[in-house]
Amino acid sequence: MSLKLTFFGAARTVTGSKFVLRTRKASVLTEFGMFQGHRKKAFEINSRVPQAALNADAMVFSHTHIDHSGNIPRLVADGYKGLIYATPATIDLAKIMLLDSAEIQERDVEYVNKKHARRGEPLVEPLYTVEEAQTAAKQFLPLHYHERRELARGIHVTFYDAGHILGSAQVLYEIDGRRILFTGDLGQPDLPVVRDPERVPDPDVIISESTYGGRVHPPVEEAKECLQKILQDAYDRKAKIVVPAFSVGRTQSLVFVMHQLMDEGRLPQMPIWVDSPLSLEATGVFRKHPECFDDETREYLDQDKDPFGFFRLRYVKTVAESKALNDIKGPCVIIAASGMCEGGRVVHHLKKIVPDEKNLVLITGFQAPGTLGRRIVEGAEVVRLYGEEYPLNCQVEVLNEYSAHADQNDLLEFFRAYNPKKVKQVFLVHGDEDQSKALAEAVWELGYENIQIPEVEQTFDIR
Ligand SMILES: [Zn+2]
Repeated sequence: MSLKLTFFGAARTVTGSKFVLRTRKASVLTEFGMFQGHRKKAFEINSRVPQAALNADAMVFSHTHIDHSGNIPRLVADGYKGLIYATPATIDLAKIMLLDSAEIQERDVEYVNKKHARRGEPLVEPLYTVEEAQTAAKQFLPLHYHERRELARGIHVTFYDAGHILGSAQVLYEIDGRRILFTGDLGQPDLPVVRDPERVPDPDVIISESTYGGRVHPPVEEAKECLQKILQDAYDRKAKIVVPAFSVGRTQSLVFVMHQLMDEGRLPQMPIWVDSPLSLEATGVFRKHPECFDDETREYLDQDKDPFGFFRLRYVKTVAESKALNDIKGPCVIIAASGMCEGGRVVHHLKKIVPDEKNLVLITGFQAPGTLGRRIVEGAEVVRLYGEEYPLNCQVEVLNEYSAHADQNDLLEFFRAYNPKKVKQVFLVHGDEDQSKALAEAVWELGYENIQIPEVEQTFDIR
């Protein structure tokens, strides 16, 4: 039976994940992520919803990072009518994350339009509204790990733990005797809070992420020491520390580790503000899904009952409270959305802290090219925040370990678990080209033969 696979995003780049599997009788869409990059270009790409995605009979998404599922409301608003499957924890988180994203967009657009109106420039629109995010959530349907389900005629799906963030899944499709495995994003073994990635039995085709396909992270304990040192130095300087965070997942991992460091007396107490309107609710979802935790977190939960450090955290809800943070003195930590600094409250905090050399921007996740986050990582001398220039004098530290992503060693460990002679095709996605290529070479050395790095809109026959 003919089976075709088309990639519509996250091809030779990290963000905007979406692909469609199509037989003669049915088709299924996997992921509908947001493309992140320069504002105008990103808006243009995210506004164009491929017809094949709109026409799919069913949709599946692997986890709640914005580059994998952040544009679902736009898909539904443009006419997608089918069900949207994910694990129960992912669905609970997605409802919050998509509302968060819609709110950030509405607020940013309001802010930007005020300036545009003053200058007589054309007004901009959000990709989707809060209302559209709420409507999209009505099509969500939870499916537990290891529960096999027919999504569309002749297409079955089963979720396995990806060990990346709460609820994250590897997606196994079974279509006409062929087993097609999509890794979603794979976590590192020993990552705080979540379990290690599972081994999925005998795939014929593997579609793998390659975000850190050519890089190796230091071990988790080393990362913890590194975080401790960075925070201690910043504390001694009385710095305001701003951590741009993806509002779901990473905030909780980071808070978990800071909380441990303070409990162990390895770090002085300092206030941690979480300025992301819906992060508190996301943390509530974590507490609702202990079935997704690893043993260490369960143990910690048993002893402490408060692994996400509620008593230390101060959540900021209103814009007025957020603005009040501008005037408080360091040392303190402000965790604010969004992760690549492209919008949201973090931009307002950056405006205040970047000119002063004692302050610190702590980057904990992958920053896509063209985003403000990337320019900060690359050490730009000046950054543009909402159209105005600010000198980037403050300290910048990058901790990729909390990116929750497998590195090259972890990815090779994943590939080593399978027999290369039995896997007929490998597709490497979710990586900048150099990372995907580095992984392709290493995977080839393991004995895998048919390895592709797809281009956007490229279609492949699945054998
Ligand atoms: Zn992810």
